[in-house]
Amino acid sequence: MNVVETFPGIHCKQCDFKVAEQTSGCPSCGSESIEPVNLNPNGIIHSFTVVYVGFGHMATRAPYVLAIVQTEENVKLTTVVEGVSDFSVVKIGDKVRFKAMDEKIGPIFQY
Ligand SMILES: [Zn+2]
Repeated sequence: MNVVETFPGIHCKQCDFKVAEQTSGCPSCGSESIEPVNLNPNGIIHSFTVVYVGFGHMATRAPYVLAIVQTEENVKLTTVVEGVSDFSVVKIGDKVRFKAMDEKIGPIFQY
């Protein structure tokens, strides 16, 4: 698998807000003056939870780490973190890196 250097997001030219979503308007100020950008793939775990019972398409994935990751550009996003073999060592502030964009799940990060 190729190493992904960046992941897609949008940048608001009005208020400089960046978000890891593809939307037609800025989630912060509502401006439609937005442009697609490649976001920095490096981030840290801002908060997380271990999900032991998944639902729907996530059922077979459980248990897994569901985290809010804050990237170096201060973008916060909810993501699944892979590459964890021992959940007890996961802690806030851990460095993670964008891995892939999953159509069903959304962004996936990894250690
Ligand atoms: Zn904005």
